[in-house]
Amino acid sequence: MNTIGVLGGGQLARMLALAGAPLGVRFRVLDQNPDACAGQVASLVVADYADEPALAAFADSVDVVTFDFENVPAWAAQAVAARVPVYPNPGALAVAQDRLAEKTLFETLGLATPDFAAVDTRADLAAAVARIGTPSVLKTRRLGYDGKGQWRLRSTTDIDAAWQALGGVPLVLERFVPFEREISVIAVRGRDGDFRTWPLTRNWHRDGILSASLAPDAADAALANEAFMVARRLAEHLDYVGVFALELFVEDGRLLGNEMAPRVHNSGHWTIEGAETSQFENHVRAVLGWPLGSTTLRAPSVMLNFVGALPEATPVLSQPGAHWHDYGKSPRVGRKVGHTTISLPSPMGLVAALESLGERIDRREQVAPVLAALSGS
Ligand code: AMP
Repeated sequence: MNTIGVLGGGQLARMLALAGAPLGVRFRVLDQNPDACAGQVASLVVADYADEPALAAFADSVDVVTFDFENVPAWAAQAVAARVPVYPNPGALAVAQDRLAEKTLFETLGLATPDFAAVDTRADLAAAVARIGTPSVLKTRRLGYDGKGQWRLRSTTDIDAAWQALGGVPLVLERFVPFEREISVIAVRGRDGDFRTWPLTRNWHRDGILSASLAPDAADAALANEAFMVARRLAEHLDYVGVFALELFVEDGRLLGNEMAPRVHNSGHWTIEGAETSQFENHVRAVLGWPLGSTTLRAPSVMLNFVGALPEATPVLSQPGAHWHDYGKSPRVGRKVGHTTISLPSPMGLVAALESLGERIDRREQVAPVLAALSGS
């Protein structure tokens, strides 16, 4: 019997545990919150990520450790790695935790990024704005997710307000990219180096939070291959084991690297029903050193996130092709509480189902950009 320990007990850990159960894999999750939703399906250890004795006891109680949350302190990941195998390795985690290190690595590996500059002082910010211009986005180098720790500068007169909002921690300023679309590569690498990608996913965000994903994206083959190639270079360079997401902007037909998530990712949730093997199952297989499963598409799929609160379940459950995921969390503004994936073999069927669902759960705005993409406009 294998037991996987997961640092972080949110919905990602929960879906990992659900995917691992049929494989006979047990899960133990560590989270600071006694209500962590993975605790409903796996054994939960309540402790702080910085509690060294608790981390050591946790490491000693499992066969391998992975993450549902990447902002675990690097020293804590190292301390766990001294006792038990940790995948992805703490070095890869450290790069993905720091936007500056991440973007610098992207460039080294031949992936262009939006112009960026490190900002540590008010004077650095003024110099960075003078070089990069506006609109631009100021981001914390660490601990940012779901649009948190970001401030958009519309003109040079915003410098003081941006500095007031975020100054005092290491920052990075980026050019604001008026992208045609956002896409992500969901990829997995096994302990033996086997590397696979799922079909390219197109994503839409609202208020910095993922709102909808569509797979496969209609990118031309050359662009998709380039995205897959850089993901592979990144995985090999970091000696990465497990699933990760590479988030990209497409501007004037060109790829720009935004960020890498060193874990299973929200834009890969559609793989549960839409691919032969889900991102969650393949992550479990990868960290255990098992052969990876096929990442082939089963059917075109659309994932809609439920942020803040869930809609009524019945209209979703009664919609052919729709699958309901309730994370067992209490509602809160900006919190991801569930999702639905509509997976249907015919793109026409997908359009009809999405239109109908958008009406029935009153989410016309959320489905509108996906419908536009499916109809090629
Ligand atoms: P991030 O946490 O960096 O992934 O940012 C969340 C979302 O904000 C992205 O998925 C984009 O939709 C948007 N965003 C972030 N950085 C930029 C940028 N430099 N230009 C345009 N949009 C951005």
